[in-house]
Amino acid sequence: MHVAVLGTGIMGAGMTRSLLRAGHDVRVWNRTAARAQPVADDGATVAGTPAGAVEGAEVVLVMLWDTPAVLDVLGSAAGAAPDAVWLQGSTIGADGMREVAAARPDLRLVDAPVLGTKGPAEQGTLVALLSGAPADVAAAQPAIDGYSARSVYAGERLGAASALKLACNAWVATMNAAVGQSIALAEGLGLDPALFLEATRGGASDTPYLHMKAELIAKGEFPPSFTLAGAFKDVELIRAAARAVSVADDVLAGLVAAYGRADAAGHGEQDMAAVYRAFPPG
Ligand code: NAP
Repeated sequence: MHVAVLGTGIMGAGMTRSLLRAGHDVRVWNRTAARAQPVADDGATVAGTPAGAVEGAEVVLVMLWDTPAVLDVLGSAAGAAPDAVWLQGSTIGADGMREVAAARPDLRLVDAPVLGTKGPAEQGTLVALLSGAPADVAAAQPAIDGYSARSVYAGERLGAASALKLACNAWVATMNAAVGQSIALAEGLGLDPALFLEATRGGASDTPYLHMKAELIAKGEFPPSFTLAGAFKDVELIRAAARAVSVADDVLAGLVAAYGRADAAGHGEQDMAAVYRAFPPG
């Protein structure tokens, strides 16, 4: 298929490479042109404008930071591909997705956030969360299958897939902060944090995620799969969504405080595991 990707950040770049490997013809645009160069080296065509990227595309994948960025870029690109299916993959929450849908009723929009991070984006093994008109989803499925191992369809309502993404990210953000908290706690209580990993190993509460994030903390190096600034953005979105439907937000309030503190301390561009820095022992 002719696929356009708007946004070649961590996720957009990985998904572009997976689309290319799956045999699609991919044209990309990124606000900072230099950041699109690596995918050009892998076979994508780089356009100078969003409209130039989407012209002639059957499917457009939007992988930008937040709702204002999505609205801004759609505003300048939508007219150039009125018949394409637009996969909105950025994490913008159900409210953000509804705002985008209200602003662009002319487009065949599919709510299409993804689960998984840099590695699965590069390997084409993300989980695609989808909602929208079944015919639009079906038309875009070959492209979706290029970057994902499986799809979860949440219904026709735009915003349903983004709501599901918030529930999933609440889980991930909580686990990630809990890793940092328990390691800091072990250290603060005078223990080698390796004992915490040894004690939980193989039990029901053990998870590969714990070991992945604990390894980054042990090394003190946090190359980003998902930035801490992104996790902070998401926990704020999730807390607002919880409040809007009167779900108690005690845990989310703690997450907003912890990610916000680490972000304010200058760890925003590091991996979200750097939330550990919000729990400095002593
Ligand atoms: P990223 O590497 O920071 O990329 C963000 C992208 O958005 C870049 O292409 C950036 O362009 C662009 N952008 C930001 N503000 C813009 C604006 N005002 N106008 C135009 N373009 C703008 O982030 P990412 O990790 O790829 O995340 C992208 C989206 O996917 C986010 O919504 C994130 O929450 C979500 N997500 C991330 C992960 C993950 O693990 N990384 C997983 C699932 C979902 P520049 O290069 O010019 O800054």
